[in-house]
Order: sequence, then structure tokens, then C-alpha cells
Amino acid sequence: MTSPTSTQRRILIVEDSPTQAEAVRTLLDDAGYDVTVARSGSAALHALRGQHVDLVVSDVIMPGMSGFDLCRAVRADATLANTPFILLTSLAAPLDIMRGLECGADNYVTKPYEPEVLLRRIARTLVSGNTRFRDSSRDAISIAFLGATFKVGSTREQILDVLISSFEDVVRGNAALRVAEAEREALYEKERQARVDAESARQRAEEANKAKSEFLAMMSHDLRTPLNAIGGYSELLALGVRGPVNAEQLQDLERIRRNQRHLLMLVNDVLSFARLETGEIPLNIVPFNLSKAVRPLRAVIEPQAAKRSIEYMFEPCTDELVVRADSERVDQVLINLLGNAIKFTPDGGRVTMRCGVRGKMAYVDVEDSGIGIAESSLALIFDPFVQVDANRGKREGVGLGLAISRKLARAMGGDVTVKSVEGKGSTFSLLLALETPR
Ligand code: ADP
Repeated sequence: MTSPTSTQRRILIVEDSPTQAEAVRTLLDDAGYDVTVARSGSAALHALRGQHVDLVVSDVIMPGMSGFDLCRAVRADATLANTPFILLTSLAAPLDIMRGLECGADNYVTKPYEPEVLLRRIARTLVSGNTRFRDSSRDAISIAFLGATFKVGSTREQILDVLISSFEDVVRGNAALRVAEAEREALYEKERQARVDAESARQRAEEANKAKSEFLAMMSHDLRTPLNAIGGYSELLALGVRGPVNAEQLQDLERIRRNQRHLLMLVNDVLSFARLETGEIPLNIVPFNLSKAVRPLRAVIEPQAAKRSIEYMFEPCTDELVVRADSERVDQVLINLLGNAIKFTPDGGRVTMRCGVRGKMAYVDVEDSGIGIAESSLALIFDPFVQVDANRGKREGVGLGLAISRKLARAMGGDVTVKSVEGKGSTFSLLLALETPR
């Protein structure tokens, strides 16, 4: 703090909060004022009576004597009545400004205050406040403001000062509002742009996906023709149509055929998947008897199962059970599920297919006593090209079977779900819509 000089103006800060008092003191100290702090209204009166003060800056809300009470007491005291008085009011309480005028304050500053505003108002009040002639006998005028009436006995200059200060606050508030408005606009524009970008990214991704599926469909279609030729010609050779073949050559031809069939199967999977993605697979959804439709799959599955000494069982459901689906696609899904069940079941195991009604849907369960699937992988196996690590190895497949099966089932209004215990076996369920919903 600087020591007072004869030119220094003395300001009394009345503030009950020590931190706020300190903040104002530092500000005014730095601006070259001689500052005294009182922590209550009565302490302020005491200080005022003990020394000359050029201006009082008082908080409004204080325990005991409020800022208004203090202002009134100052104005009522003949020796202090002309002391310029500034109130620190809350921005949230506009009526405080009128109450301030009513009790004879010269000006106000709203809290939280900006340092330069407080300094400007102090400087102005020091000039105008000291020169004005206060006459306590003058008639107070009634002012109605925000539904309340105030009796104001202030001088014209005082009222004008307060008016100018309010106007200044409004202008500054308005400017802040405009900045906030501009920031809001900019944010809104950014958000709008982000939405536009996201939408165009989505469209690009969709187009790229479509192009990829179309490419896959075209490629696999073109691959099938030479693959069929390889199959056909190796069969011709094996039959001896082109001349005699020895046992070793026959074995080689069989290897060619096996690999050709495998490759053809992969190409067919990729083609089906690509067609499903582009929505090119037409579905022929009709009512049919579920048990009767799936029973003949035994002929396809039993030879594969027998080769591995796996026991295949079918537990039929009632003949009355009618579903709405595409029976060819139902066969395709079940052949895939049964094929997997055999593929992932060790020799000598068991695969069972059974059908029935569960809740509002018909089901065909394919249960195996195979290697099972880890809990953590269950959610992944329906994604295209996913093969669970532990189950890989020499087994055939590209990891499209389940993705195709689920897509087909969902396109028919059903689903494919799975329950599995690692090391014990899995049950895949094809769910189908009932002809007569329950
Ligand atoms: P693919 O059989 O061509 O690998 P799928 O989409 O049919 O592809 O199956 C994906 C993966 O799910 C398989 O690689 C395997 O890890 C796992 N899986 C599918 N069926 C079974 C099953 N019955 N038992 C154990 N794992 C299975």
C-alpha cells in the first residue's frame, strides 16, 4: 500500500467478504487511491466519523447493516451527508439500483464488476459527487419501476449519473450478448457443417461398399466359368475319355477335383454375400410345413457325418407347424449350420437337428457336441470373414457362412442365434416367422 499524499483521494471500502475486500483494495491501491477497508456498516460509520473520506464503495448485502442502511445513515448524518457513495449491487437484482437511488447513493456498479468500469465510475463520482449540493429537505419524487414504487430524493445530477451508468451497462451487456450470439452462430454453423460432412462420408462409404460388392459379384461370377471348366475336364480325363490313366494320375486328378470344388465353394460364398449386400437376392416367401421341408437334409448331411463317424439325428416337430419363408434359403442356411456342426465336431461326436416353436417364432436348432466357441467370440462370428482363432487350422471356409446365413434369415423376418460352451458344443438356432403368429 502506498502512504497517503495530499493529492491522494481516500476511499472507504465496505465489504464483509475478506477476499472481495482485498480484491477491491488492490485494484484501488494500484490506481493510486488511499484505501481503507471496513468489514461492516457500523465499522464504516465509525471510520467515517474518525477521518475524512472522499468516497465510499459499499457492498449491498452484508450481515447486520446493509449497504442501503449504511447509505441512509450517512445521508442522515449532517457531517457525512455529502460523502459520495457507490453501491456494489448484484446484476441479478435490478431493483437494487432503484433502492440505491432511494437511499441517496450516487452511483452503483454491478457485481461481478469489471475493474475498468469500477475505476471509471469512482473517478466520475469523485468529480460530480463532491460538487453537488445535497438538500435533504427537497421533495422526493415517486418513480415506478418494474412494478414497485420508489421515493427518490436525489439531485438531478445523481439521477442522471445512475441513468448513464445503467445505459452504459445495457450497451456493454448488449455488446457481450452480440459476441455470445456470434459465437453461438459460429458453433451452430460448425455443427451443421459437421453433419453435412458426416452425411457425405456416409454416402461415400455406402457407394464404396456398393462398388466393392458389385466388383466381388462380377469377379466371382467370372471365376466360376473357368473353375467349372477345370472340374469338367479333369472329370473327362479321370473317366479315361482322352486315353488310359494310371492309378497315380487318377489320384492327382482327384486332388485337382477336390481343390476345384473347394475353390468353387469359396467363390459361391463370396458371390452370395456380395449379392446379399447389393440386395440382389430375390426371396420367394411362402407358407410351408417346416418339418417336412427340413427332413430331406438328412440325405445331404449323413454322408459327410458318416465319413467322420459322427452320429446325425433329426427330431421332427409336429406336421402342423407352418412357417413363412423361402424354403430354398432355409435349406441353404441349415446346410451351412449342419456343415459347420460337422466341421467343428471331433470324430465320433453327435449332431442333432430339431424343430419347434419358441415364443412367437418357429425354430430349427442345430446342436453339436463339438469344440464350442469362447464367450468373447460369440458376438464376432456373424461378422463377414471372421474365423475364431482356436477353430482355424486346416478347416475349410472363408468365414462368410454365418454372415450369409444371418443376413438371409433376417431378410426372411427371422434370425440366426447361437449358444455355446467352449469344449462342450454349440447350438445354432434358425428362427423363422410362423404362418399364424401367436
Ligand atoms: P467358416 O465356417 O467359413 O469359417 P462361418 O461364418 O460359417 O465361416 O463361421 C465363422 C466361424 O465361427 C468359424 O470359423 C468358427 O470359428 C466358428 N463356428 C461356426 N460354427 C461353429 C460350430 N458349430 N462350432 C464351433 N465353432 C463354430
